Amino acid sequence: MFVILLGAPGSGKGTQSERLTEALDLVHVSSGDLFRDHLGRGTALGTLARRYMDEGLLVPDEVTIGMIADRLSQDDVAHRGRVLFDGFPRTVAQAEALDALLADVGAGSVNAAVLIDVSEATVVARMAGRGRSDDTADVIRTRLQAFRRDTEPVIAFYASQGKLVAVDGEGTPDDVFERIMGSLVTE
Ligand code: ADP
Repeated sequence: MFVILLGAPGSGKGTQSERLTEALDLVHVSSGDLFRDHLGRGTALGTLARRYMDEGLLVPDEVTIGMIADRLSQDDVAHRGRVLFDGFPRTVAQAEALDALLADVGAGSVNAAVLIDVSEATVVARMAGRGRSDDTADVIRTRLQAFRRDTEPVIAFYASQGKLVAVDGEGTPDDVFERIMGSLVTE
């Protein structure tokens, strides 16, 4: 089972990922966390990614796809075959690469892409209170632009395949979680 979580920065993907991985027994694969882990360990990939992350720009596709391919080859994913992708794919090229990666390992294909739908006013307000180093006003603006330009086409990509599950992301984390679970099981 492969589920993708889509949503603008600040839409609550991180919070909902934790709950969903637990409830559905999925391995959590977060591209943002993987980049931050590389950064913390001072790897070459981390050094490269930092330049983009600090500006709010997307890390180039080939770097991101390579990192995810590496993660998918690790035992926990390979054995369980149950993954929640959080923050990936963020471009149509990444979405196509993911299909190819899953086909290569004979693991199946994407079952559902859950979109946490929130207004731009909400995400700006939420991120302002978060205090992460890439949460300054300018960088937030750039990340939202990247979302509109590069990731909204990914939403259309999954919608055209009948895999998109859009849920209202306003309200408390509990409300949103219940909506997601409700839409996934009644699918
Ligand atoms: P958010 O969703 O709040 O922006 P993330 O932790 O998912 O936070 O991502 C932080 C940064 O990491 C992004 O702004 C981008 O620079 C980089 N990043 C994460 N995922 C990807 C991806 N799939 N493709 C390219 N860059 C990514």
